[in-house]
Amino acid sequence: MNLQLLTKSNLHTHTRFADGKHTAEEVVLSAIENGMDVLGFSEHSFHPHPDVYSMETPQIQEEYRKEIARLKHVYADRIKILCGIEQDSFCGVPTDVFDYVIGSVHYLYLGGEYCEIDLSAKDTLNAIQKHCGGDPMVYAKAYFEAVAKVEQDTQCDIVGHFDLLTKFDEKASIFDTSDPRYIKAGLEALDALLEKDVIFEVNTGAMSRGYRTTPYPAPIFLHRIAEKRGNVTLNSDAHNKDYLTYGFDKALQLLKASGIGSVLTMTSNGWKNIAI
Ligand SMILES: [Zn+2]
Ligand SMILES: [Zn+2]
Repeated sequence: MNLQLLTKSNLHTHTRFADGKHTAEEVVLSAIENGMDVLGFSEHSFHPHPDVYSMETPQIQEEYRKEIARLKHVYADRIKILCGIEQDSFCGVPTDVFDYVIGSVHYLYLGGEYCEIDLSAKDTLNAIQKHCGGDPMVYAKAYFEAVAKVEQDTQCDIVGHFDLLTKFDEKASIFDTSDPRYIKAGLEALDALLEKDVIFEVNTGAMSRGYRTTPYPAPIFLHRIAEKRGNVTLNSDAHNKDYLTYGFDKALQLLKASGIGSVLTMTSNGWKNIAI
């Protein structure tokens, strides 16, 4: 029953305006077909540093906004559509025209270079070698320090993929997440964000793309969120119209096992807290 309610909504969705596979309209039609009530788009904000996944120019960002506004109007009687943005912590683009903001750290600025966190295991290993003296814990500390500031840097409502740095770990084992230095850095970032009025997304994006079998954040962080009564929501970070609620069943089990008692979900009447 709870799962049914929670699969009515997803606020983390990408399209061809950036690195998603489908057009925004194709995604809307898929959401309607799957009986969803709310679909939020959260395209990657324009990033001044060229990369492979963000909207390429401020003009494209404006076209994105206009297209979602058009779809909102066209499909108003069938689904509630929201126009959000996934704002990278290095993007200073104004976000007040969007319905909500997901704040995400996709880069570390190390030794005068922007190092992409989730591009490939090879890139992460190179950055560790080149800028962190070969010590993954130095990299992890820098990552979590950036995450601790993500609300300040992006004024986000939702914190995106809290421990994204572990994206490749199931196959490449880059970070020893049981290392006390890793846990300390992660919990310090989490505690800083728990002081703010933010929602943590439980993000299944790397599961649908075959990188991971579990969502972000890891159970150790979910336990802390439960202890401190932080807010969580389920997001799929879908880059494909067929994965709008991918892995929500597994994420829900994990949340229950971590002691989390309720999940916020966006409904046609705004945020609702669902007991799980
Ligand atoms: Zn992201
Ligand atoms: Zn995303």
